[in-house]
Amino acid sequence: MPDNKKPANSERIERAVAIATEAHKNQLRKTGEPYIIHPLAVKKILEEWHMDEDTIIAGILHDTVEDTDLTLDDIKKEFGESVAFLVDGVTKLGQVRKNMDNLDTYLPETKDNFLRLMIATGNDIRVLIIKLADRLHNARTLSALPPDKQKKIATETLEIFAPLADRLNMGRLRVELADIAFSYVDPKRFEYLKNLIEENNKQAAKALKEIEKEVKDLLKKEKLDAEISGRIKSVYSLHKKLAKHNQNLGEIYDLTALRIIVPDVTSCYLALGLLHSLYTPMNERIKDYIAKPKQNGYQSLHTTVITPKKKIVEFQIRTREMHEYAERGLAASFYYNEQKLTENYKQGKIQHLPTNLLWITELQDAAAKLREGKKVDLKKLRLNLFADKIFVYTPKGDIIDLPKGSLPLDFAFRLHSEIGGHVSGVKINGKMSNLNRRLEQGDVVEILTAKNQVPHESWFEKIITSHARQKLRQMLPKQ
Ligand code: MN
Repeated sequence: MPDNKKPANSERIERAVAIATEAHKNQLRKTGEPYIIHPLAVKKILEEWHMDEDTIIAGILHDTVEDTDLTLDDIKKEFGESVAFLVDGVTKLGQVRKNMDNLDTYLPETKDNFLRLMIATGNDIRVLIIKLADRLHNARTLSALPPDKQKKIATETLEIFAPLADRLNMGRLRVELADIAFSYVDPKRFEYLKNLIEENNKQAAKALKEIEKEVKDLLKKEKLDAEISGRIKSVYSLHKKLAKHNQNLGEIYDLTALRIIVPDVTSCYLALGLLHSLYTPMNERIKDYIAKPKQNGYQSLHTTVITPKKKIVEFQIRTREMHEYAERGLAASFYYNEQKLTENYKQGKIQHLPTNLLWITELQDAAAKLREGKKVDLKKLRLNLFADKIFVYTPKGDIIDLPKGSLPLDFAFRLHSEIGGHVSGVKINGKMSNLNRRLEQGDVVEILTAKNQVPHESWFEKIITSHARQKLRQMLPKQ
């Protein structure tokens, strides 16, 4: 059990810094800076997340085994089993992503690469947290890379790492990762939406200040100790929401929202009642995530109200604790709660785990069994990390995420509109299939094309994503 109470810059951490500096001494980053800048940045991020000492040390050393002469044995001798285990996990995760086939050697039980990836790291969730810190620094310094690499890393960040942060309820991290990545994946759209949000905030600022004051006064009068602040929607979440609402900005009511933080759960409902006595709630837009938390453990009350001046505002009401968890998620509670909870759960002291922790326990148990060479029925795992999504693969092993129920043409148009426009057939998992077959998690999809094949009106029936529909529409008149 790592010791949480040691000061952040313990002698062990200093020793890790010295060893990493020495190991990386002749290496440079793409920015031209000494390589050690990167592990030190990862260290700082992990410290900001209040991770335990072993995790911080592993973060400092995370690139040494792969990129320097330092070995896992060296690390084990110097810092012990736990740090070595974490560094090994991060290294393997890197290799796994470079070459998915490597997984055969230690995870022969499943052919589902994404699941394998999760299990390969999941036996200690701290591996994922180090990986997220690593990815955050790489995202922050993406501008130093050539454009094609920027796009590739940004896409992967958007498709895998930002959703992973979301699954761990690390809201602040998710927003930063997604917005940086999106600014590289679709720079024009990013700029457009960013300006739109800023413009909207400017226009709404005055009215919002008034509302804030009104609410503050009422809560104060009712002796409710509350903090109110504005919350600004992130660019990428607006992008996703607009896609859901046919690009109709008029349907987006939470472009700006006010957040109320109160001392306890009772005060949350009290504040909600007071708000509704002041403004008219839009009934269908009241959400009680306190009684029914989101799958990732997120808790809050949401309500959208209309003021007498016809202003529509969303309110989010939560306790300080819920707020901390929404912002920092698993990293916030990991050592303080997760270990204790799962330990108590395993010993039968408590009957239920919060759902957000349950999947982690399952993942850890499955991984431990696999490592011991025992069989695991992976289908029984409730590994619905991305419940509304499936991950499929190109024959080269690139991961493509699609909404559940997607069809081969959705996949083809996602790869490239040129490919989508010339589809002549599809092979799924190496076998000839047809365009009506719904894709499933882990399928390897190979699109066959023919130069003289042209897109057809009837294809609309074999498409479910708006992206593919839009591309097909653009192509049809050209015939
Ligand atoms: Mn790294």
